[in-house]
Amino acid sequence: MGLLDGKKALIFGVANDKSIAWVTAEILAAEGAEVALTYAGDAFESRVEPLAKQTGAKIVLPCDVTKDSEIKKVFQTVQEEWGGLDMLIHSVAFAKKEELKNDFISTSREGFNIALEVSAYSLIAIAREALPLMEGRGDASITTLTYLGAQRVVKNYNVMGVAKAALEASVKYLAYDMGRYGIRVNALSAGPLRTLAAMGIPGFRDILNVVQRMAPLKRNINADDVAKSALYLASPLSSGVTGETLYVDSGFHAIGIVEK
Ligand code: NAD
Repeated sequence: MGLLDGKKALIFGVANDKSIAWVTAEILAAEGAEVALTYAGDAFESRVEPLAKQTGAKIVLPCDVTKDSEIKKVFQTVQEEWGGLDMLIHSVAFAKKEELKNDFISTSREGFNIALEVSAYSLIAIAREALPLMEGRGDASITTLTYLGAQRVVKNYNVMGVAKAALEASVKYLAYDMGRYGIRVNALSAGPLRTLAAMGIPGFRDILNVVQRMAPLKRNINADDVAKSALYLASPLSSGVTGETLYVDSGFHAIGIVEK
């Protein structure tokens, strides 16, 4: 008997087997959930198809979150195949390379708009489509992925920090709008993890080193740490929790001045 037997989970943002979306899909499937996967576009198809087979996912669709038509198609398919939805994972972010390399003050209008659209607005667009499929399921949950750079300055995180701040605020407003339908909305703030998205941040290795030295747990997090907390937020284990940002970062966010 799994914790999620009979539940349906839709997951956005699988790029490869290192993706947080993928490790989350694996743990939800291991607990008995049926999973559906989406990926950004054709370039990812060959990497995602074999992963989909591993979890028995029958719904595997491209979805560029800047395209309303592709978002609608995903939810139409879920409606036709499943008739409803219990869990949704939003694990999508993007910023242009140059925006993560130059000083934040040189953020371009276009770079700002792209980062905010893909990384924050997409949650709103997706939640709106999910609502009719999730309402009345008893306990339904939406979980997004964020980072400490929303709250504090992290070198080179730049416009992505602003996008994550918008995302975290959106979580609270969506939690308010959707709560009356029995839908919870939360964010998981992960510590640095070596993934495709993370490799686009110059100096990522330095971030890992600082966390290892300063975090209360004296280590970096791993994929399993993230997956287990994603399971908690997605499942009825967190039935009373909404509008929350849960830090899974070895406690790094709690640290102020600790070294002489
Ligand atoms: P990842 O590269 O595996 O995942 C990012 C995903 O976003 C990819 O699947 C990519 O294809 C997708 N994406 C980008 N543009 C898209 C678009 N227009 N339409 C649809 N999908 C698009 O890396 P990840 O680390 O697993 O990132 C997942 C989430 O976790 C992101 O929101 C990221 O900011 C967040 N996060 C990552 C870390 C970390 O250190 N890895 C830490 C905290 C939060």
